[in-house]
Amino acid sequence: MSQLILVLNCGSSSLKGAVLDKETGDVLLSCLGEKLGLPDAYITFKVNGQKEKVELTAEPNHTGAVGAMLDKLKAMGLESQIAAIGHRVVSGGELYSDSVLIDDNVIAAIEKCIPLAPLHNPANLLGIYAAQNIFKGLPNVAVFDTAFHQTMPEHAYIYAVPRRLYRELGLRRYGFHGTSYRFVATEAARFLGKDINDSRFVVAHLGNGASVAAIRNGKSVDTSMGITPLEGLVMGTRAGDIDASVYEFLADNLNLSVKEVTNLLNKQSGLLGISELSSDCRTIEEEAIKGHEGAKLALEIFSYRLAKYVASMAVAAGGIDALVFTGGIGENSDIIRAKVLNYCSFLGFEVDEQANLAARFGKDGIITTADSKVPSVVIPTNEELMIAQDTARLSGL
Ligand code: ADP
Repeated sequence: MSQLILVLNCGSSSLKGAVLDKETGDVLLSCLGEKLGLPDAYITFKVNGQKEKVELTAEPNHTGAVGAMLDKLKAMGLESQIAAIGHRVVSGGELYSDSVLIDDNVIAAIEKCIPLAPLHNPANLLGIYAAQNIFKGLPNVAVFDTAFHQTMPEHAYIYAVPRRLYRELGLRRYGFHGTSYRFVATEAARFLGKDINDSRFVVAHLGNGASVAAIRNGKSVDTSMGITPLEGLVMGTRAGDIDASVYEFLADNLNLSVKEVTNLLNKQSGLLGISELSSDCRTIEEEAIKGHEGAKLALEIFSYRLAKYVASMAVAAGGIDALVFTGGIGENSDIIRAKVLNYCSFLGFEVDEQANLAARFGKDGIITTADSKVPSVVIPTNEELMIAQDTARLSGL
């Protein structure tokens, strides 16, 4: 019987879970718990494309959701095969440059990093406690979003503010999406037949949150997200880079508090703010095609800002052997990919329109022509697989 790894990704009111076969990486069960902490919390299981919704009436929280997963695994006869649990943890600060087997010291370290990820780390801890309670005695592993970026050089992560703020408060660029970058860079090297130890990739992870990273010889050398995920690209609802004086400007003109401006920049900006329509790229594209001015502008700004970042990440990587797209938008939006490659044509990209149209719905592929001086490739990300592999490695399976 093959060993199975349970992967948990907890948000403050949600839980994404998956059960993967350790050997094949196949997903046997996935689930999404929602409204956790509210009386009408529920979890939806997906097995072989079939969905089943279970109300978490007795315990409408993270523990109830993990308990429901155990019940589901029992019903599927898989419970005894679960060998370890892997947890996505957003911030490990400067403490971790790799995943780690969880013990009391690791839990204390994750708690210490709460100021760096105040929304995420506490939720990640809820998942860890629930798993320790419900799957008693099994090894738990923490896989940090920030770990992969710990190889960035000082000149990439130090902000131009008084140095003592770094020393005293840890104010610096940490970056996110590291688990995805690690997977995608490895896959891109394999796909392109390149030695990862001799490679210069710029990778754009474009989901609801979006960032770009320069990955040289398999190691992160720079990335666009900062101390929080607000910095960098235009995102679904986040503004990305903006003049920091906007805080004072909005406070003076609209009488907003610091928290209210942060909320405006995180939740009401980006594609949503520009289009005045939606944060969802698919909707924006559909409406742009129909002629919606806001949607067209949102796509243009998103692509233009991303293209500028691609060029700057080529500086960080010391050149560019390939531009890699991943995440829901990167894997599906031929429109944004084409715009970015056209803005960056001076770097040597030539779009292959047919190939670009064909690379979607989880298909990987090169989207530039054979004559293109530099290739661009779409690689679907698989953070769950990366977490499962780390979990197996660190649990000694
Ligand atoms: P998250 O960051 O939440 O994991 P995803 O990686 O799933 O997000 O990406 C979600 C984004 O991908 C949404 O903006 C969605 O509209 C976009 N997306 C998904 N499918 C398509 C598609 N076929 N065309 C354009 N955008 C898409």
